[in-house]
Amino acid sequence: MTHAWTQRLVERHQQRQDRGLWRTRPLLTSAPGACVQVNGQWLVNFASNDYLGLAESPDLPQLAQALHQQAGMAGSTASHVLAGHHLPHHLLEDELADWLGVERTLLFSSGYLANLAAQTALLHADDCLYHDKLNHASLIDGAQLSAAKLTRYPHNDMNALSRRLASHCNGLTMVVTDGVFSMDGDCVNLPELLPMLAEQEALLVVDEAHAFGVLGQQGKGTFAHFACQPDQHTLRVGTLGKAFASSGAFIAGSALLIESIAQFARSYIYTTAQPPYQASFSRAALHLLKGDTGDVARASLAHLIAHFQQGIAALGLACASSFTPIQPLVLGSNARALAWQAKLWQQGYWVPAIRPPTVPEGTARLRISLSAAHTKTQIDGLLAALAICQQEEVGQC
Ligand SMILES: *Cc1c(COP(=O)(O)O)cnc(C)c1O
Repeated sequence: MTHAWTQRLVERHQQRQDRGLWRTRPLLTSAPGACVQVNGQWLVNFASNDYLGLAESPDLPQLAQALHQQAGMAGSTASHVLAGHHLPHHLLEDELADWLGVERTLLFSSGYLANLAAQTALLHADDCLYHDKLNHASLIDGAQLSAAKLTRYPHNDMNALSRRLASHCNGLTMVVTDGVFSMDGDCVNLPELLPMLAEQEALLVVDEAHAFGVLGQQGKGTFAHFACQPDQHTLRVGTLGKAFASSGAFIAGSALLIESIAQFARSYIYTTAQPPYQASFSRAALHLLKGDTGDVARASLAHLIAHFQQGIAALGLACASSFTPIQPLVLGSNARALAWQAKLWQQGYWVPAIRPPTVPEGTARLRISLSAAHTKTQIDGLLAALAICQQEEVGQC
């Protein structure tokens, strides 16, 4: 007889496959970069979040090595609050704070953990928590682990948020949003959002995973892009695994807020600090990203984005209005997104199909992720490959 657990798992795997939701892990056997060897095949890579092309820069490991000098290569050996907080971590926190012009930052082992921390550490049961509907899964999980009641507002709809904020709240108010939305590439409407918050004495949390390094002067993110000033009641979450081409994450804000997170966040306290070498690597990435290397990369990225947008418009394919390196091509059904992904793969291009629950039901898409490491020729090649997907589909009708 089949064991009850076997039966459950086999059934649910079958359902997942039938619905076109099965996930696989492509295996990379080359270094990260604009061209990668994946499942044995060389492909042009539009799947990574290496927006500035730092992952390929030979300067990065060299500088990291130079900065790391005295510290060892082993792991941190403990949580930050025990024996795990090493000099490279401390220096990285200070340098991130200087870069952003905030009082303090706090380092985490991943963005997922950082996003659990801000909400679980600060919210009480009678507080009111508001989320954009398209927020990243890690923010949603943070809300669910927190004590507060979650209300979600339609994507970037500031009028809808304003109406919700106007209703009575027994406790304090927190608004949480992506800075650049991870699967759509559009930006939170900060100029409209910020004035609404002051009135409610609300705390704002902005997830800058796809904005830091990419948007604004010195890559200082969404606020710099809009020339807005974060106040004492703003927290920004940055991840070090995307434009930084490193690993880990941080929260930036006032000394009071950051200390409260360090005191109370279980995802900060009950986990081993990242290896000190990783922090030195991030320090090197920060140094490059805020300086000339970053400026050159951001300028060429802007050219590539414009070039791509012209090309995709010429094909008559509707890419959503994103001026960031994340260019979604919404195709609708899971089957269609998977078919286009496979067709592009055959032609030498790796563009991942993104399906529910990562995106809402019926909005499966190709997530085209551009990088300063790409060439115009590679982008033209992708556009030609997309044109073929388009033609073959018409041919089937
Ligand atoms: C990637 C991502 C995270 C998670 O960061 P990790 O360091 O990968 O855990 C959080 N928020 C957003 C918007 C992301 O895209």
